[in-house]
Amino acid sequence: CGIVGYIGKKEAYPIIIKGLKRLEYRGYDSAGIALIDNGALNIYKKKGRVTDLEEAALGKNVHAHIGIGHTRWATHGEPSDRNAHPHTSNNGNLAMIHNGIIENYVSIKNELLKKGYHFTSDTDTEVLLNFIEDIQKNNQCNLEEALRIALKRVVGAYCILLIDKNDPDTIIAARKGSPLVIGIGKGEHFLASDASPIIEYTKEVVYVNDYEIAIVKADELTLKNLGNEKQTPFITKLDMDL
Ligand code: GLU
Repeated sequence: CGIVGYIGKKEAYPIIIKGLKRLEYRGYDSAGIALIDNGALNIYKKKGRVTDLEEAALGKNVHAHIGIGHTRWATHGEPSDRNAHPHTSNNGNLAMIHNGIIENYVSIKNELLKKGYHFTSDTDTEVLLNFIEDIQKNNQCNLEEALRIALKRVVGAYCILLIDKNDPDTIIAARKGSPLVIGIGKGEHFLASDASPIIEYTKEVVYVNDYEIAIVKADELTLKNLGNEKQTPFITKLDMDL
């Protein structure tokens, strides 16, 4: 029910955990985080509260300058550790978090099962993620292009954040129906479901529109529509107080 992402020079973990706590009011049943450090994807997730996630990550490697975090409100699959986000693709390279519902996930899942894909959760999210991986493999295209192709087939609502452990400099985001705000810092970007996790770091935000994909790097933000045409980000100044 909430998403937070960070890319930049700071440590991602504390920013994301704090952000998830700020989004607690939206309600949720589990929480998780994916971080990339030194070519490794480190994922911690837990049924329960953000503090339960913190406990699960205690003593583990949480060092990273890129990360995505999620609080889940289960729609497909019971609240459990294995259904909590982030999910990982079959090849182990991609991690994704998702708010919303992929309505046509059953038919896509059946196609993927026939191709030999396996699933470790009951979520619609894991289906979309492996669909993206499969498109990337078949079309030999980059992740952004694979996501674009996948989203044209998807029926439903989503805000997703996607990372690739082989590309620690990029978070790819997309939305339709579920909110997404990107905070613009100095050499860093923040992503969240609403401005509350962002406001203490920057007052400059971009509200991503439906059917837009954001390619987010530490010092660069590119917005495109599903037709691969660049969109001009409209920067809004927040005047809320903490
Ligand atoms: N449909 C996804 C799930 O059940 C995402 C739910 C959410 O919005 O948190 O895992």
